[in-house]
Amino acid sequence: MRFIDTSLIYTAVYETICKISFVCDPQLHEAILEAQHRETEDLPREILGMIIQNHNYASEDIIPLCQDTGTTLIFAEIGTDIHFSGKPFSETIQAATADAQHDCPLRASIVLEPIFERNNSKNNCPAVIHYELVPGDKLRLLVAQKGGGAENMSFMKMLSPSASADTIVDFVAEGVIAAGSRPCPPLILGVGIGGNFEEAPLLAKKALFLDLNGHHQDPRYAELEKRIVAKINHAGCGVQGFGGNNTVLSARIITAPCHIASLPVAVNLQCHVHRHEEIII
Ligand code: SF4
Repeated sequence: MRFIDTSLIYTAVYETICKISFVCDPQLHEAILEAQHRETEDLPREILGMIIQNHNYASEDIIPLCQDTGTTLIFAEIGTDIHFSGKPFSETIQAATADAQHDCPLRASIVLEPIFERNNSKNNCPAVIHYELVPGDKLRLLVAQKGGGAENMSFMKMLSPSASADTIVDFVAEGVIAAGSRPCPPLILGVGIGGNFEEAPLLAKKALFLDLNGHHQDPRYAELEKRIVAKINHAGCGVQGFGGNNTVLSARIITAPCHIASLPVAVNLQCHVHRHEEIII
C-alpha cells in the first residue's frame, strides 16, 4: 500500500492548470510550425504565424493562450494500491481548480445551472473528473483546459454495425468540415469507436491526450487516422476557416468492444491551443 497525501495532488493540479493556460505544449508548437511550412496559401500561412506569435506572447508576458480559458477536465487513473490521506480527492481537485482560476487569473467560464439563471460559479468549478481504477500504486492524471468552441462542435452517432471503414471516414470528415471555423482550426481530433452511448465520447476525449505524431497500433486503424486527416485537409476549410490545407493537425483513434447491434462513433474536436498535460504521482 502506498500513501499519497492529497496536498501533493493539489499542488500538481494547480501548477499544471497555471502552466498549460500560458505555455503552449512544445509538440503542438512544433506541429503548427510544420503546418506553416507545408501551407499552400498565403492568408492561412500568415494566420499560422500569428498563432505562433500568440504562443510566444502568452508564455513571455504570462497572458492566457486564449480568452476562453476552458473547462478543467481530469481523467484520473488511480492505482488500487494507493491510500489517500488528507482532504478528499475530488475536493482537492476542485480546490486546485478554483485557486488556479483566482491566482492566474483565468476567465471564470462555468455556469452552475444550464438553462435558466446560468449564473457563473465565478471560480471555474466544478472541474469535470472521470475516475478509473487501475492496478498498481501510481496515480496518473490527464489534465486539460478544454475550450467551449471546439467542445460545442464535437459529435457522436450510433452507426449501423455494418458501416464500413469508408462510412466512418466520411462521417468524421463531414462533421468536422461542417463545423467550419467554429472549433478554431487547426484542430486535433479524438475519435472513439466502439463501446456504447456514453463510452464512445469518453474514448474520443481521451484520444486527445495521445501523441499527436503517433498512430494506432493496429495498422488498419492507423490507416483510418491518416485517411481522416487527408480527407478533411483536402476539403479546404483551413486555418480559422480561411482556406488552405491545414484544417487538422492530427487524428487519433481509441477503440473498445461493443454490442453486436452497435457501432458508436464519437468525435471530440480540440482547438489550436490544445491545453493538456499528464501528471504521474
Ligand atoms: S475553441 Fe479554443 S481557440 Fe477557440 S475560443 Fe475556445 S479555447 Fe480559444
